[in-house]
Amino acid sequence: MYKIFMCSLFILFLSKAFAGEVKRGDDLSLEKFEYILSKSMSKLPKLWSVIDQITNQDVNIYITPIEKGLGKARGKNSIYIAPRAFIHDLKAYPEDRLIVVLLHEYGHILFNRQSNRKSNNKAEHEYAAFKYSVQHALRIAEKGDSGPIRQLVHYLPLRVQNGKKSDPHTIALKKLTKENFWSDVLSKYQ
Ligand SMILES: [Zn+2]
Repeated sequence: MYKIFMCSLFILFLSKAFAGEVKRGDDLSLEKFEYILSKSMSKLPKLWSVIDQITNQDVNIYITPIEKGLGKARGKNSIYIAPRAFIHDLKAYPEDRLIVVLLHEYGHILFNRQSNRKSNNKAEHEYAAFKYSVQHALRIAEKGDSGPIRQLVHYLPLRVQNGKKSDPHTIALKKLTKENFWSDVLSKYQ
């Protein structure tokens, strides 16, 4: 019995040790951080459930102003999300769109964790992140919510059309949207 108790304590310790957290970035006031936590959890429940899943995979999510876009990933454990992702006009940034931003950034983390895939090719990183976001959104759709995959079906082709040709995101999406895998997604969710 004692052994089982010690074992479960150890497992509890392990699961705690590998769980990340939502943290306040250096450039965000404590007041705004607390406001975001208190207001957005009830307003954006699907987003927070994805945040939960990701932080449970040893990722810290920092809410902090960022220069470009809504999200950014760094290394193997850190994602940065702009405060405006949480406080905004939901018409301009629907919850599903925020979810796919987060899935994309988590895709970067997973790619960075594959040590055999060290690559300086930015388009290769973007390709992996986009592909992961599509795969994860498909899993969410299988469970009954096709919102995130429909966002991707809508936005990814637009980014191919409107993005700068030399932008690694555009290069990655050009490749992805030519694949059979993508035509299967379109035939189901367009
Ligand atoms: Zn990216």
